[in-house]
Amino acid sequence: MLISDPGQEEKTSSGLVPYTVRCDSCGFTLIDSAYRATCPRCDGSLTFDYPASQSLSAIPALDESGMWKYRNRLPVSPQVVPVSLGEGQTPLLRARGAQPYDLYLKNEAVSPTGSHKDRSLSVAITKAVEHGFTACMLYSDGSAALSSAAYAARAGLLNIAVVPAGTHESRLYPLAVYNSAIVEFAGTSAQALNWVHETCLELGLYETSTYRQANPYGSEGIKTISYEIFAQLGAVPDWLAVTVGGGGTLAGIWRGFLELRALGLTQSLPRLIGVLPCGYRVMEIARRHGAASFSELCKLADFPLAETAQVKIAMEHPPDGIEAIQAIRDSGGHFAFATDEEAWAAQAQLGARDGIYAEVSATGPLAAIEQLETRSAFRPGDVVVAVITGSGFRETAATVSPIPIHLEKVDRATGIQSLKSILKGITTCPTGAK
Ligand SMILES: [Zn+2]
Repeated sequence: MLISDPGQEEKTSSGLVPYTVRCDSCGFTLIDSAYRATCPRCDGSLTFDYPASQSLSAIPALDESGMWKYRNRLPVSPQVVPVSLGEGQTPLLRARGAQPYDLYLKNEAVSPTGSHKDRSLSVAITKAVEHGFTACMLYSDGSAALSSAAYAARAGLLNIAVVPAGTHESRLYPLAVYNSAIVEFAGTSAQALNWVHETCLELGLYETSTYRQANPYGSEGIKTISYEIFAQLGAVPDWLAVTVGGGGTLAGIWRGFLELRALGLTQSLPRLIGVLPCGYRVMEIARRHGAASFSELCKLADFPLAETAQVKIAMEHPPDGIEAIQAIRDSGGHFAFATDEEAWAAQAQLGARDGIYAEVSATGPLAAIEQLETRSAFRPGDVVVAVITGSGFRETAATVSPIPIHLEKVDRATGIQSLKSILKGITTCPTGAK
């Protein structure tokens, strides 16, 4: 790998890498010739700088549609063919009904696997192909797992989904359809995330967990939501509400709007409303305490959490929480909280009023917008966008599986050996990947 000092001009002798990879923490810049998920000097999160000449108004190539028309703002080689299932370019629908403000619904539920995570995984798996990986692994039993399994299948990679112990069969069945290996990890979610991260490094597996420390490339896919909203509205909205699980989606959307402003396409930025299940207040507490690191945030999460129906955004330790807090602060927005009753009511309203069947983990933004409306926060004519991140159709899977589900049960002691049997015959570590 070629690494340059901070401030040193990038040397892209091949001309193949049209972006710079930089460490968020120490400013180190590196040339993207070998795969890295974090800074080689301090293990900080990586971020990407694109030349100003790569404007959003560039004419897309004929074979690129959907999200990939913005590929000159995505951190992949121009030579690689995107691993695509038709993600992106989702509809922005005006909500029915007479609000004193303009409410729009960015309907990510129509994505190939039913959620906005497809944008992340399309970029992430394309990056895996670019670097010659043959197998990927993540910890998730939700949208990210489905998406990783689907895009890995599309690319001919083996996907290993590590799921929490006791995950319902209806969640596992679609993974089995995508031919994903399924590993049930005994331990807390924090232990599982760490184990997946360490094991990917040890076995040369490509990590597709959707937080920036695990995969900064996938995180870049999310910002195309902001590009599309800007293109569809012809302007930046006044407000944008989206659910917050790990924090990466909110942070990615904010990065997208910041880039639009940096490109000189707009002077405006939206106020962000990050919506969480009621009781999941660690990010709000961390915001008030001025927490500056993930470990500080985790220390503040020392209270019991109630069960919630909004399971896909119920995170005890949000890995991208600090970045999400920064986005909320910089945008002049706030975190909002939806009870399950409010989320179910919003789900029914979206279905009955607008013809959208969203999963209950994705309907919180409607509840938060209603809370703001009650407080007369919106001015007449304000443009408000609710991002509907996931489809409800995925929550009604049959519980009897025609395809047998093979479930490998592991813990820290037995996990690596089990994975080696899953990976038998597959050479995982591409040249230069470690
Ligand atoms: Zn660094």
